[in-house]
Amino acid sequence: MRDLRTLPKAHLHLHFTGSMRPATLAALAARHGLRLPELLREHHLLRVPATERGWFRFQRLYDAARACVRDEADMRRLVHEAAADDAAEGSRRLELQVDPTSYAPLVGGLTPALEVVLDAAREASTATGCEVAVVVAASRLRHPLDARTLARLAARYAGDGAGEVVGFGLSNDERRGRTEEFAAAFRIARAAGLASVPHGGELLGADHVGVVLDELRPDRLGHGVRAAEDPDVLRRVVEQGTGLEVCPTSNVGLGVYATVADVPVPRLLAAGARVALGADDPLLFGPRLVEQYEHARTGWGMDDDALAALARHSLTLTRAPRDRVAGWLAEVDAWLAAPPSAPPDPSPRG
Ligand SMILES: [Zn+2]
Repeated sequence: MRDLRTLPKAHLHLHFTGSMRPATLAALAARHGLRLPELLREHHLLRVPATERGWFRFQRLYDAARACVRDEADMRRLVHEAAADDAAEGSRRLELQVDPTSYAPLVGGLTPALEVVLDAAREASTATGCEVAVVVAASRLRHPLDARTLARLAARYAGDGAGEVVGFGLSNDERRGRTEEFAAAFRIARAAGLASVPHGGELLGADHVGVVLDELRPDRLGHGVRAAEDPDVLRRVVEQGTGLEVCPTSNVGLGVYATVADVPVPRLLAAGARVALGADDPLLFGPRLVEQYEHARTGWGMDDDALAALARHSLTLTRAPRDRVAGWLAEVDAWLAAPPSAPPDPSPRG
């Protein structure tokens, strides 16, 4: 059994606010004189009974956390800590998702909000060794014209490296808004060479995965895990090579599945889908990236070969230049070639 913290991997589904360390949230709240809701002080949603989990509670807590980010220094701190935490977990590449809309008022507009994040991403990449690229995400709760504005902004910073925009997403409550109305924004993003990486197939089932495939032509789906509910939809996902950014503890935190063992990743993989594990919003759900791989080992019974294959999926699904990816894949081979050691002490986690 090899140490999963040293398994080279990429992190493709992590939100800017949701990446925050609980201690940082507490520090920012204290600095700005804000009172945190009790559940945020207790750190995560998994403490809520399964029957009471759900999107609305999640959204309320997320908004309260976001309100603690009040200036440019806070924004930079979040990016740096996300990169540092990812680096410590073996992540070579983080594609961090941000909707600059919420932060625009803090720094004088959408453009500076995105530029602060990109600049911090460049600095954090150098400082930590984990390459941080950015996905600009529009919100389903806003007008589709706002999404187009964001897509045009994202297009101006398109690239494939650290501190560049690599993708365009669509986040927030999947049940809200009409997916087809966001197609124009995604056309703008794709024309600029950005990956299409909308959320879909978490709160809604396989039918909506089909709609997202038709309308937004995703390179990767945020979640997409419920494609497993319909063999035809899953076949389309596989045939089109659409990556699935599966976030097991987020699924459980939102009550989509009762336990991590119920998240149908083995079925997705057996069908030939490419799955990259992600943490989504560890501030609210608890576990960060490496614990998703630990769940794969304990919940789905994956051996080190299977875990290395998962890591390879995550790396090949990045938007990094292919020579960078080849180097990381060689590091995965080296991880697997090294002799396994005794399992690390299991740390008590909630
Ligand atoms: Zn997400």
